[in-house]
Amino acid sequence: MSLISINPTNGKLIKSYKEDSEKQVSAKIEKTHSAWLKWKDSSFSDRAKLLRNAAKVLLKRKLDLATLMAKEMGKPIAPGIAEIEKCAAVCDYYAENGAAFLKDEMIATEASSSYVSFQPLGVVLAVMPWNFPFWQLFRFLAPALMAGNGGLLKHASNVTGCALAIEEVILAAGFPKDIFNVLLIGSKSVKQVIAHPLVKAVTLTGSTEAGKQVAQQAGFHLKKTVLELGGSDPYLVLADADLEQAAEICMQSRLINNGQSCIAAKRFILVKEIEKEFIRIFLGKMQSKLTGDPFEEGTDLGPMARMDLRNELQQQVTANINAGAKCILGGKIPDFKGKHAYYTPTILTGIRKGMPAYEEEIFGPVALIFSAKNEEEAIRIANDSPFGLGAAIFTADRKHGEELAAKRLNAGSCFVNSLVKSDPRLPFGGINQSGYGRELSAFGIREFVNIKTVYVK
Ligand code: NAP
Repeated sequence: MSLISINPTNGKLIKSYKEDSEKQVSAKIEKTHSAWLKWKDSSFSDRAKLLRNAAKVLLKRKLDLATLMAKEMGKPIAPGIAEIEKCAAVCDYYAENGAAFLKDEMIATEASSSYVSFQPLGVVLAVMPWNFPFWQLFRFLAPALMAGNGGLLKHASNVTGCALAIEEVILAAGFPKDIFNVLLIGSKSVKQVIAHPLVKAVTLTGSTEAGKQVAQQAGFHLKKTVLELGGSDPYLVLADADLEQAAEICMQSRLINNGQSCIAAKRFILVKEIEKEFIRIFLGKMQSKLTGDPFEEGTDLGPMARMDLRNELQQQVTANINAGAKCILGGKIPDFKGKHAYYTPTILTGIRKGMPAYEEEIFGPVALIFSAKNEEEAIRIANDSPFGLGAAIFTADRKHGEELAAKRLNAGSCFVNSLVKSDPRLPFGGINQSGYGRELSAFGIREFVNIKTVYVK
């Protein structure tokens, strides 16, 4: 069996990689474990130095790495470079703060000394998606290495070139050989890795379906999981919102990475007073974005990452139109030359309960517009979803927005007058079908450690 990278702009094969055999996978796990036995005793300052090196290597190679992403999954070069810069930033962030996050915590008891010590778990398996092929992995790997763990990566099958480039970055930074290894396997072989006794925990970023399967397998072996899954983030626009600003942010968030982001705005819930005007401004902004070759300057949206995903998206759009949604922009596969995975910005209005898009995640540049009688109904619709990753609210009354964000909206991250974004300093993760556990910040680095009680009488 092979892992195949295909250029989504033209359907041409970039490269085919032979999958690792079961024996090769076991050997990689054992080697990573052996490297970890030494790594776990390294100092925080040594780990920090290597993470800083990794940041430098990333920045030096940013154009090459962005080019690789453009080829394998269609991301235009400028956002590709921004992604690599963010990876460098998360390495520097944990180099700077990791030791403080994992410092012993003294707790007064009747003992002469009692405290919490954060100890690494061992080898952690990361199952990762193709949409941000570097960022998704680095936001796991930087804290994992800083905490003294080892890492194994099973990347999405269409971005093996990116996976191997990450391995090279880690080696070039001077990390010990084998402390991080890439497994060349398809999703069917993940079960075998989870079952291996030297693999201590699993993190998965991907669809809810994949998360459920991995959680089930890890649960059977009593291994900890962190799950960063799908989302259908609601963006609520209230009657007093600055519509120009709200529409700009909503457009940006919906079209990030050609709509292929877990925390992209997906559901736009508009109260009746501003509905017509918001749609008019938003339509203009969505229309103005240029879809084309990711290598050409000025391109806003490249192709989607794979042709099958684009075709599935088109089916979702059609199913919703058939169920009564109105398409006011896009809605069909563009008539570009040759084989390709392009899809242009699309807007569906009149989404109601009972239509597939009311509950499904739409992973592409398709905005769903919901109408609400008032703020109460907007909140009810926002929370009436199986997901709970992010949410945003737009209002001129910042205090009121904050209260709704903090207390009323059910999601892992709730933003006011801003798009939902990840930031190394803030925890990131979801609730309900969007998963559990947190990445980034002090919370993220403490997911894969033994929170050990030490008690000396
Ligand atoms: P996906 O199909 O679930 O794949 C993600 C990873 O899981 C890939 O490496 C895939 O391998 C593997 N996988 C799939 N099914 C599996 C199974 N049954 N057992 C073990 N591994 C399995 O997701 P995707 O299409 O790459 O990414 C899109 C989804 O990810 C969306 O739902 C999006 O919202 C979510 N996502 C969430 C976050 C977050 O932080 N919450 C971030 C980004 C994306 P193969 O490629 O070999 O199938």
